[in-house]
Amino acid sequence: MLETYYVHLEFQAKMGVWSVNLPFLCCRCGVCCTLDDFLTAGEICASREANSEVFDRFRALTEELGVLFEKGEDTYDSYVTSVKCPFQVGCICSIYDIRPLGCRQFPNTPFGMLSTDCQALDRFKRQCLALKRGWLSVKETGYFTSDSLKSTQFSEKQYITCIDKLRRAGATEDEITLFSAINKPASL
Ligand code: SF4
Ligand code: SF4
Repeated sequence: MLETYYVHLEFQAKMGVWSVNLPFLCCRCGVCCTLDDFLTAGEICASREANSEVFDRFRALTEELGVLFEKGEDTYDSYVTSVKCPFQVGCICSIYDIRPLGCRQFPNTPFGMLSTDCQALDRFKRQCLALKRGWLSVKETGYFTSDSLKSTQFSEKQYITCIDKLRRAGATEDEITLFSAINKPASL
């Protein structure tokens, strides 16, 4: 299962509670990967010994940024917010398997949900609203697929209605596929 953030939605219906998991699917456009994002994302998730090249680059980067900071905070700020993360190659993260925790946890980070330039996040929010629309009582809880998956409970009709709502909210085929995978509809 892809490592990503998802919300577990519990709907209170007359006949009892039913639930689904709605995953966030990064389409790896790379838009969010500025140097500032990288620097605030926490430590690289790997040992120095096994990834000496990555850590050497990181050390060179911090030295370079130290010199820049000495020139003034404004210069430093405008630089780190305008250039891309040095580990981004094309639109792809070149250290994806060992990327920092903050990169892994997007959009469930202090500023992640406030991002305005992530189209996948826009779609995720629209899909979440679409699933909740019409229900008076919905409990929403966030998790990561790297933890054990929350079990879900729904009827075939409820599942089909969810898929229909997601499509109308602009979900891509990849997002529908991941939604199906994370909910594992046994009867379909
Ligand atoms: S902007 Fe959104 S979709 Fe693009 S790489 Fe960042 S998290 Fe993924
Ligand atoms: S480490 Fe990877 S995911 Fe994190 S900001 Fe850099 S390129 Fe993006």
